[in-house]
Amino acid sequence: MVTGPSEIGIPEDIRDVVKGAVTGFIQFIDAEVLPLEQDLGDLLIDERKFFDENGKAVPEAMEARKQVRMKSAAAGYYGMFAPESVGGGGLGIRIMVFVEEAMYRKYGPGRPLITWAKGFLSQPTLASFVDGPSHMLVPVSETVRKEFMPSIASGEKTVCFALSEADAGSDVWGVQTTAKRDGDDWVINGSKTWITNSPYADYAIIFAVTDEEMIKERKGGMSAFFVETDAPGYSFDGVLPVMGHAGGDCGAMTFEDVRVPADRLIGAENQGFQIAMFGISEGRLSISANCVGMCGYALDRSLEYAQNRMSFGKPISEYQAIQFMLADMAIDIYTMKYMVLQTAALIEAATATGRLPVKEISMCKAYAVEKTQATYDRAIQVHGGMGLSNELSLNEGFRIARTLRIPDGTGEIQRRTIARQMLRGDTVF
Ligand SMILES: Cc1cc2nc3c(=O)[nH]c(=O)nc-3n(C[C@H](O)[C@H](O)[C@H](O)COP(=O)(O)OP(=O)(O)OC[C@H]3O[C@@H](n4cnc5c(N)ncnc54)[C@H](O)[C@@H]3O)c2cc1C
Repeated sequence: MVTGPSEIGIPEDIRDVVKGAVTGFIQFIDAEVLPLEQDLGDLLIDERKFFDENGKAVPEAMEARKQVRMKSAAAGYYGMFAPESVGGGGLGIRIMVFVEEAMYRKYGPGRPLITWAKGFLSQPTLASFVDGPSHMLVPVSETVRKEFMPSIASGEKTVCFALSEADAGSDVWGVQTTAKRDGDDWVINGSKTWITNSPYADYAIIFAVTDEEMIKERKGGMSAFFVETDAPGYSFDGVLPVMGHAGGDCGAMTFEDVRVPADRLIGAENQGFQIAMFGISEGRLSISANCVGMCGYALDRSLEYAQNRMSFGKPISEYQAIQFMLADMAIDIYTMKYMVLQTAALIEAATATGRLPVKEISMCKAYAVEKTQATYDRAIQVHGGMGLSNELSLNEGFRIARTLRIPDGTGEIQRRTIARQMLRGDTVF
């Protein structure tokens, strides 16, 4: 059976780069990552060994992840979509769509949560804005660029993106963490929650209020800071496990008089909201591209299983009820793939057109994650009892798909954004 992304959808101008990047990247994972994953098989398959009593992944697992990040960075893959100014490879977002699709289609679900099943170590081969070098870090000061960026680009150190708080989730203007100027320093006080990679990060990008009047009017007043997680006053409060897992990637932190030099401000003072939205927009498209690949993985498994599984004397693929589920999966994958590609093209054209495709990015994220959940639900159904077993990663894919409907903007917030854009006059399709 033919599996894997089709070459037909790849635009001519990037065809050679996409083919080179996909082939090299997949070969790298097969040669460098999968053997490591096999060596760690016992650990990865059992949460009781994988997480410690506080829900943190054990050092052996995190060490393996670091090794993968660093090998991937050395081979030129880890930060390949981050700009060159932060140590990345500067490849465009359309190329990212194909590479992410290819990876998730081949290796299955795994990102963004820690999963001890297949994919745990293939996931850290690629950096994202919540853990590694990304476009969001372009406006860091020269000092931060020189002192910290090399170890982030090499995969040795990681970051986390700390925006959400107990009373500021969908409504990011509710942020209460403050940063006050004191001489040459900024002093940060407050707390954050639900922050991906916070249990393991070496640095945090913290968003804090720097002008209370501006923030009340929702016209700025929030700034972004680059903070070392071992700074005095910075404490990690604990892991927040989700969806039936014994541990995970998300956590909460508190800041008590965390003092950072003035040059740790990222970009302009009071312009942190734009920086956050830059990261989040990139995240929304990347999640959507992951979904295309994750769904392809589920469909490939289902097509194969349906042709082999016999029931009432025939392969179940001969029953229309099963065929309809396979066809519905394909319709959703095809739709989401070309939505995501078209939106990636609009983002790349934005410098010339001046039109950032805000509503399209939200449409992709809402559609892709909801259809991914539907796809995994169908794939589990096609597999019967095997669909629920821990042997396949379909149940993990279902949990990841359900989880993805919350971070980087819930489905309701995406629809709010789409409607607001249209009501402001953006009705171009
Ligand atoms: C796995 C995971 C990883 C995460 N990673 C990060 C991270 O790395 N960094 C970070 O900063 N944050 C992170 N978050 C936080 C995430 O961004 C928030 O959980 C999300 O934005 C929703 O906020 P909330 O949980 O406070 O829900 P709420 O904002 O309280 O929403 C509750 C419900 O109300 C709905 N709702 C809210 N406002 C409206 C409205 N105006 N109209 C209609 N419905 C509305 C929501 O859609 C939702 O259904 C993560 C969360 C999860 C679960």
